[in-house]
Amino acid sequence: MKNYKRIYTEQKRRAGTRGIEWQFSFETWLDWWGPDIELRGRKKGQLVMARTGDIGPYSPDNVRKATAEENIIEGHLGKNQSEITKKKIGNANRGRIQTPAQLEKNRIAQLGKKQSKETIEKRMKSIRDVIKGPQPKVTCPHCGTIGGNNVMMRHHFNRCKTIYKL
Ligand SMILES: [Zn+2]
Repeated sequence: MKNYKRIYTEQKRRAGTRGIEWQFSFETWLDWWGPDIELRGRKKGQLVMARTGDIGPYSPDNVRKATAEENIIEGHLGKNQSEITKKKIGNANRGRIQTPAQLEKNRIAQLGKKQSKETIEKRMKSIRDVIKGPQPKVTCPHCGTIGGNNVMMRHHFNRCKTIYKL
């Protein structure tokens, strides 16, 4: 009969040196292996405790029995996958984090959009004015000037220069 306690301690120690959390007690570990403990080993055809996707802790619900070869393949897949994930996260962050220069560039671009919107609005208005025909004539009550409504509102009535002269 093998010294299971020694094997258990060895596996636990190795998990520790690899920085992997160990959630088995000797009893749950022995229970988990069952009779397959006799097939345990790292040689071809022998069984190892393999973590799902080669990630997470060594815990009863995160491990399964796999042949040594299977586990090596899965380990490589897991590594590749985490590399891809890391790159993806990196790209996503690059999209989100903006340098002050980039922010300023965006601000100016936004400003340009606003200005062109205003310009379009102005142009639309002048087109509408032409379609509408001449403005009705109004008379400024302060200086008696007669003119088109738009111009008169801009320079007379409440804004009439004669008000300030008084
Ligand atoms: Zn006036």
